[in-house]
Amino acid sequence: MNRAIRQILRAAVTAAVAIPMLLMGCGSGPSGGHMPVIEDQAGAQSRAVPFVEEERVTTGQTMLAEFGASHYEPQPRESKKQEASQRQVHAETPVAYLTFDDGPSGHTGAILNILREQGVPATFFVIGKEGERHLESYRRIIREGHALGNHTYSHQYSTIYRSVEDFKADAAKLDKLLLHVTGTKPGILRFPGGSNNRLSWRAGGRHIMEKLTREMSDTDIPYFDWNVSSTDAAAAVMSKQAIVDAVKSNSAGKRQIIVLMHDTDPKTTTVQALPDIIAHLKERGYAFRVLDNHAFRCQFLQQPS
Ligand SMILES: [Zn+2]
Repeated sequence: MNRAIRQILRAAVTAAVAIPMLLMGCGSGPSGGHMPVIEDQAGAQSRAVPFVEEERVTTGQTMLAEFGASHYEPQPRESKKQEASQRQVHAETPVAYLTFDDGPSGHTGAILNILREQGVPATFFVIGKEGERHLESYRRIIREGHALGNHTYSHQYSTIYRSVEDFKADAAKLDKLLLHVTGTKPGILRFPGGSNNRLSWRAGGRHIMEKLTREMSDTDIPYFDWNVSSTDAAAAVMSKQAIVDAVKSNSAGKRQIIVLMHDTDPKTTTVQALPDIIAHLKERGYAFRVLDNHAFRCQFLQQPS
């Protein structure tokens, strides 16, 4: 590479780092959150963007999120005293939310088999697939007690991030399909690329994610990013061991973790890593939950309060 090009590249990276972002936050207990690099298998080109960010935790939201998570299990028949003691137990139990993006795929059945064997629920942020095999995957996800989340129908950055209206129309198309197929609409959302992705800027300008997160914050559909990357999107195929090790190191010291994994055809090693990931988290005492309106909220891009 010649020197002039190197200098231009260096200047570009410096400029990208210097751009101030909105409040970023993803608290995850006493040790704080982990600021991930954008990773999104279906939006693979997002990895080309240099990306360094500072993390700030908004204490109020973090506390609220943790309070909410500790109350996740409804206990309608408990006495007040029992309730209080159970709350205490729940507050001390670390919670893991396993999430799979971009499915269904040819691996969804294998992932569901592992989750069933392990007795562990997970959340699938799915996109629109209309083949009968995939429709059956949506149904099986619900039938086996997992959660479906909206990850947009098309997952095409150039379409969904053109405007708030385009995003909502695309997400609504998936809602309609899932309602038709499973009888239920997802109550949760994950933005392709995460709420702080910058690839969206190409389609909708540099404030598109601020507009979208503000819009979604006014609805009762929460969006979720993640605070533990499995790194399974860092290469076309990561080694099984690298994925297991990433989850181990990225979850260390965190009481509430949202683990990002991908359910796409190339991700054979994610499926292979899953039993070891679950075994490790069980060994560390984590309880497994699905994401919902009351769950620990991890959002990279937050509205200033
Ligand atoms: Zn995605």
